[in-house]
Order: sequence, then C-alpha cells, then structure tokens
Amino acid sequence: MADIRIENLRKEFGSFVAVQDSCFTVNDGEFLALLGPSGCGKTTTLRMIAGLELPSSGKIYLDGEDVTFNRASARDIAFVFQLFALYPHMNVRRNIGFPLLSQGMAKAEIRQRVEETARLLQIDHILNRSVSGLAGGDRQRVALGRAIVRRPKCFLMDEPLGTLDAEFREIMVHELRELHNRIHATTVYVTHDQHEAMAMADKIAVMNHGVIEQFGTPQEIYAKPATMYVADFIGSPPMNFMRFTSGLKSGDKSILLDGADVAVPEIREDMAESELALGVRPEHIRFSDASRLRGAVYGSEYLGTNQVVAVETPGGLIKARVPANRSFRIGETVGLEFNPEKLALFDCMSGRAVASSLYQETRHG
Ligand code: ATP
Repeated sequence: MADIRIENLRKEFGSFVAVQDSCFTVNDGEFLALLGPSGCGKTTTLRMIAGLELPSSGKIYLDGEDVTFNRASARDIAFVFQLFALYPHMNVRRNIGFPLLSQGMAKAEIRQRVEETARLLQIDHILNRSVSGLAGGDRQRVALGRAIVRRPKCFLMDEPLGTLDAEFREIMVHELRELHNRIHATTVYVTHDQHEAMAMADKIAVMNHGVIEQFGTPQEIYAKPATMYVADFIGSPPMNFMRFTSGLKSGDKSILLDGADVAVPEIREDMAESELALGVRPEHIRFSDASRLRGAVYGSEYLGTNQVVAVETPGGLIKARVPANRSFRIGETVGLEFNPEKLALFDCMSGRAVASSLYQETRHG
C-alpha cells in the first residue's frame, strides 16, 4: 500500500477553475473522503489522482514517486465507479478474476486470489452464479472484488453506493468500513453524503467551489469547523448562526444578543468593527426559563430519542435538539441557553472561524 501526496493541484476547464490549488496527504492505510455538493470538484480531483485527467498545474505523488504525468495504467491504482459495469455474460468468479487474467497471471494463482477476495467480501457462496441475476448489494461486492483482487497501491471510489437504495446503502457503508479495517488499503472516496463520510472516513476534505475548506478527522470537522460553510454543510440540522455587529475587544467573554448577555469564545484580537456570527450546534442548546434570550416555538420534529425544535428569535430561526419527553405548543415562548464550552465565532465577511471554545480548550489544555 502507499501514501498519496497532492501538492497545489489545480484544474482549469477553459477559464473555469474546477480545482483550486489543493494540498493534502492521505497516509498509508488511511481512508479519506472528498465531501461536498455537486460540482465542487470532487470527481475532477479523483480523476487527476487516477491519471484520467491531466492537472493544469501541481503534483501528485504516490508512495513518494511523482506520478503526475504517468498514465492511469502505470499508477497501480484501482478505481471503483458509481455505475460499475460488470460483464453480464461472465459469472462472479470470472468477473472478479478478469483483471488478473488481463495481466497474464497463471490460472492457479488467479483461482486462489479470487477465492481469497470472495471470502473477504463474503460472496464466496455465489462465485459460480451469473452476475445478471444478482441483487444491487452483491453486484457492488463483485465490483469491489474486482478492484481488490489486483491488490493495488490504493483505491479510488467515486460515489460507489450512489445507486443503492437507502437500506442497502447503510449496510454497504458498514461493510466498506469493515473491509477497510481488514485490508487497510489507502482509499480516497468521493461522496456528497455527510453521513457516509462521517461513518467511514479517517479524514475528510470538505470541498466548496474547487477549494478544500477544511481537511481533518470527522471529529475535528464537526466540533471545530474552520468556516461557516463547513459548519453549515456538516450536521443535521446544521450549526445555528446568530449574527451581530461586534463591539468585541480581545479578552471580552460575552455579548448582548437580543437583550440577553450571552457567553462567547474568547477572541485573540479586537474585532470591534466586524460583523460576526456566533455558532452553536442544535445539541448544545437547552431550554431554560431563566434565560433572557427568548423566542417562540415555530415547529418541532419528533425523532424518537430526541426532537428538533425550531424557535423564532429576534435574530432568526434557531434549531435545538432537546429530549423528546416534553411537547411544545406552536407559539409557546421558551428561553434558550447555549453550552458556553461548545461555541464558535465566525467572521461573516471571510466566513472563517475567529474563535471557538474548543480551540481554547486545546490552547489552554
Ligand atoms: P458531481 O458529484 O456532480 O460530479 P463533483 O464535485 O464531482 O460533482 P466535478 O465532476 O469534479 O464535480 O466537476 C467540477 C466542475 O467542473 C463542475 O462545474 C463541472 O461542470 C466542471 N467540469 C468537470 N469536467 C469538465 C469538463 N470535462 N469540461 C468542462 N467542465 C467540466
């Protein structure tokens, strides 16, 4: 297996910049998810790593070797597409073994490798079945088998679960992670689905308009979003933002928000003139009669173990994830209290985080 290093990778289509100077490293055996909405440059990044698209500038290193201008076939990378075409006239065994046959490998070795791969994917009982009659999940396993059997240096996957229905998708998310835990193959996985990325990846690169907004572990990205875009894209419901024109000076610990004194993360420099946004995730809000930050219940969504209650405040709609054991009337007045240790502060102009309670914990801790 291998590590993948990307340096200032850029792709232009005419005057349009699809990927803007990306830099990241996927360590040996790591699972990286490229996450972002449609059109943000995920597939283009993946295709450049695979050698299917030539970068406009920048470098790609595979296991320390500069492969930027190597052909796809010379990169020892396996690519699993969303609509992976299996050969319908071949059975499962021949579909999985086909890449090895094309390499001219001896039949006995192919047989051994195919059976080993099928056991790994738990499809050894269907090796002699025709692929045309297989269910979606098994077809994906065969497709994965065809990629794994070559034992490539790394795997690139482009929304491989995209065509599966929700139930199968969940099973395959679990299976893919299990598989990764067993074979530790360096993997780059493209998805627009935050749940897939959070559940499977060791690291996530969140992309927006060709730019990597944040690169980090799922925990870092969720708890310490680097930008408002990331805070909004990750989390369901996303982070709440309360905008205010700052009178904040370095060392200030609270602001007056809608007439209530609300704690804020400590900033490092004066931001007196800036427009800022206080960010709080729904699960870090609780209802308290004592709070002077008040609003009217706008609606609620019952989720079994908890509920998401939307509250109309003078500063906008705020969603709180609270225990499900209390019911709320539409229009009912509630007081909102934020966990002061779980807040983030963003500069609205740049969208970047200027402070977060969690950053401070790390700094002081
Ligand atoms: P999706 O999941 O919809 O494919 P994505 O994040 O993978 O989204 P890309 O396929 O990488 O996005 O495309 C990024 C941008 O580059 C899009 O605006 C797309 O239209 C554009 N693009 C991609 N390939 C080409 C091309 N060959 N010529 C011109 N523009 C292209």
